[in-house]
Amino acid sequence: MHQMTLAEIARGLADKKFSSEELTKVLLARITQLDPQLNSFISLTEELALEQAKAADARRANGESGPLLGAPIAHKDLFCTQGIRTSCGSKMLDNFKAPYDATVVAKLAAAGAVTLGKTNMDEFAMGSANESSWYGAVKNPWNLEHVPGGSSGGSAAAVAARLLPAATATDTGGSIRQPAAFTNLTGLKPTYGRVSRWGMIAYASSLDQGGPLARTAEDCAILLQGMAGFDQNDSTSIDEPVPDYSASLGDSLQGLRIGVPKEYFSAGLDPRIAELIQNSIKELQKLGAVIKEISLPNMQHAIPAYYVIAPAEASSNLSRFDGVRFGHRCEQPKDLIDLYKRSRGEGFGPEVQRRIMVGAYALSAGYYDAYYLKAQKIRRLVKNDFMAAFNEVDIILGPTTPNPAWKLGAKNSDPVAAYLEDVYTITANLAGLPGLSMPAGFVDGLPVGVQLLAPYFQEGRLLNVAHQYQLNTDWHTRTPTGF
Ligand code: GLN
Repeated sequence: MHQMTLAEIARGLADKKFSSEELTKVLLARITQLDPQLNSFISLTEELALEQAKAADARRANGESGPLLGAPIAHKDLFCTQGIRTSCGSKMLDNFKAPYDATVVAKLAAAGAVTLGKTNMDEFAMGSANESSWYGAVKNPWNLEHVPGGSSGGSAAAVAARLLPAATATDTGGSIRQPAAFTNLTGLKPTYGRVSRWGMIAYASSLDQGGPLARTAEDCAILLQGMAGFDQNDSTSIDEPVPDYSASLGDSLQGLRIGVPKEYFSAGLDPRIAELIQNSIKELQKLGAVIKEISLPNMQHAIPAYYVIAPAEASSNLSRFDGVRFGHRCEQPKDLIDLYKRSRGEGFGPEVQRRIMVGAYALSAGYYDAYYLKAQKIRRLVKNDFMAAFNEVDIILGPTTPNPAWKLGAKNSDPVAAYLEDVYTITANLAGLPGLSMPAGFVDGLPVGVQLLAPYFQEGRLLNVAHQYQLNTDWHTRTPTGF
């Protein structure tokens, strides 16, 4: 039962092969049995799950239908869930029970999705290995000595290990696509403004975007359908109609113009990954796509720009966690300054503290123009590169990551080494474009992802290309041993 995709679950529930309650019990038992190896959940919400499953079964019995009605999912632990701990992977929020549901959580609940729990993540979504969580590192089900990617590593590990079919995640610089690549999943970061950020604890507000992590493009279409849409509570939400994402999955790729940036195949890319990317290109050519070499000349400046902008926004967003308005409060403070200092010093881990310091520095008078303003200019150049490229092609294709998942602890002493691994994903966030990662093969038994980028609001095109690819390849069906 645990092998089923969201689409298969929807058919099974519609055909009354099993109930949502039965399925929910099977998956909850599986999580209890297997998650100690992975540490992919911060909280399990068994009671809520059974209640929602029974309610979904009752709605079906009353003639209601829908692909998410009774479908088990989990939320990354930065989506606020009313009355349930929403920790953001931080000691700072260990005892925070959100007073309301995030829009994404409320929309999925209304569609009948069943919440099994809240998934582990890098502290405040800062990281690409899921090692900075206060609740401990998450392990990659493909090799328990390796990281699952981050910051949505809990959602990725849980879905990859078949503990559940799909989960929500967020992507500020790659945190949906990179863990998808590292765990053999399909993950989609929507256009900035497509999915509401209301009730999603902010890391870098101009870059953050929620999206689906699942095993197939077909399932990403189902979950995205439940998440996307205008929200007047989020001032950056965009009032564009939401298309039927499942409807376009079957479109032919005949004549689709795929751009492959020459900058993507530089020295930093593992040659074995380069070969798998070439294989995926050949596969898409067989389906009728036309390949064109393109150039994204400002790509080399993206990492330094991102690692100024994201920490700058984080330093401002995280100022609310001061032990007074929100978050952990130290014992017996001497005075107000002591309270701030010790509450923040105790509540935030080292990576979060590092980023707050970098961000505050970049924003300070005298340095603002040299760092923050410069970074914003680079951001525009990165966007312009994409706009020029999309005049010539429909989709941009390349690797999701330069290397497969590294060993736990391998990059702990050198944060910049981890930052460099984000080279292929962060540009989409800087430009606000949608991006998808899908399975493309294995290197040393570890999964590799291929990334597709599309113009604004063309999530349907990404899902269409990925679905057609998945109809003709079987990488995405591979299961990690032991799960
Ligand atoms: N690895 C990037 C960072 O640490 C991206 C994280 C994310 O997308 N949340 O900032």
